[in-house]
Amino acid sequence: MNDKFKGFCLNGTERFNPGASIAVERNASIVERDTPEPGEGEILARTLYTSICGSDVSACMGKPNFDWIQRPRIIGHETCAEVVKLHPDYRGNLKPGDRFVPVAQLGCRKDDCPGCRAGKWNLCPDKTILGYHRDGAFGQMMTLEADRALPLAKGLEPWFGAIVEPLSVAVNAVYSKCSIKPGMNVLVTGCGIMGLMAAELARASGAEVAITGIDLDKGFRLKAAKERGFAAIVVSETKPLLAQLSKGVRSSTGATFGEKGKVDLLIECSGIPQALAEAIYAVKPEHDVCIIATYPHAAELDVTHITRQSLNLKGVMGSSKDNFLVAMELLRRNVFPAKHYMDIYGFSHIEQAFRDSIRARNVKAVIKMD
Ligand SMILES: [Zn+2]
Ligand SMILES: [Zn+2]
Repeated sequence: MNDKFKGFCLNGTERFNPGASIAVERNASIVERDTPEPGEGEILARTLYTSICGSDVSACMGKPNFDWIQRPRIIGHETCAEVVKLHPDYRGNLKPGDRFVPVAQLGCRKDDCPGCRAGKWNLCPDKTILGYHRDGAFGQMMTLEADRALPLAKGLEPWFGAIVEPLSVAVNAVYSKCSIKPGMNVLVTGCGIMGLMAAELARASGAEVAITGIDLDKGFRLKAAKERGFAAIVVSETKPLLAQLSKGVRSSTGATFGEKGKVDLLIECSGIPQALAEAIYAVKPEHDVCIIATYPHAAELDVTHITRQSLNLKGVMGSSKDNFLVAMELLRRNVFPAKHYMDIYGFSHIEQAFRDSIRARNVKAVIKMD
């Protein structure tokens, strides 16, 4: 076995503006490392395909909500990998050659932890995230806790395995947190992959969906949304969201989206505080605002509006094992049409893939790791 491997490593914390693709060279680079031995309870795995997450991009841009990540760190948590070696004391079912998807957020697994007891590691106060708390899946090899490895569903290609994690978050949001009913008008703000996944799952539940983006998104992400028949709204300073909604956005059926500019559900995926602050005015009274994104600073919300409209604010933190299993099933059945949204790059082009992701010149970058 080759005892060295390459990885894409986050080093810096310099702050860059959205769209500044130079951030990649300044804050991250390809490194070479010695292949580690799996520790107790761990496996050594070869990564097959790993996706670039919006969080990875944000970390490379030096956004303050990712300052907590210790550098240097080989990032990457959305992956499909293959078992190479197990710790000699391992007694589970995994064996070398098995393909698996790791659960990104690992709980403390202690009996006195309510989150872990409920099987929701994403709610554990001491959870650790692959690729942030320990080196992750943008390494061609990685060690990780065997507990977090979920066998790849039979019949699922490994590149689809690399988007199970983000889809599991959309599953958590759309199926656990939002009560979508057929015929609802659902507004998704932000057309990164999380927004697109939420849009697809909401529509699969019978909703009419519109998705927003900015000028930068027109070339790839909003285009992909339009090709799938979603109403795409380009928001700018001169064309604010609320004005467009009240003027009447056309849905896929040609009917007006929403009712007098109001929608039944908002799913916020942009991570832009101002986008959230504005979009809550578009939600009907007693309806839900579901927040999947995290933000570089506290959002200034008109809380009195939330009170007076009796809005329900719901946060979605990551996903648990159950959500992963549902996500695999949705991919297997093509409920989420993954191919339409994936852009595959070779590992030698990983920096380009990051640059393209930063400038929204792809939809979902997936790296073939060998
Ligand atoms: Zn992610
Ligand atoms: Zn815990």
